[in-house]
Amino acid sequence: MMMEIPVLYKGKEECCGCTACYSVCSKGAITMIADDEGFDYPGIDSEKCIGCKMCIKVCPIKRIFEKTEK
Ligand code: SF4
Ligand code: SF4
Repeated sequence: MMMEIPVLYKGKEECCGCTACYSVCSKGAITMIADDEGFDYPGIDSEKCIGCKMCIKVCPIKRIFEKTEK
């Protein structure tokens, strides 16, 4: 089965660590992981992710980028 695992952010400027994606994932596939400076960023477990993209839909920053990039 082809399944696309979404990219939550390409660079840290695309993620403010709000944990909305983490909260919305019904599969518990997202873990918040602290970087070197102690800021949490989400990571997706490809074994658990079903590619529903709810995490992308709920992300406030993705919405801003969608508007400006088109
Ligand atoms: S695509 Fe769905 S299952 Fe995968 S991490 Fe996002 S919310 Fe979770
Ligand atoms: S919803 Fe978007 S901004 Fe919030 S933690 Fe997830 S990827 Fe980062």
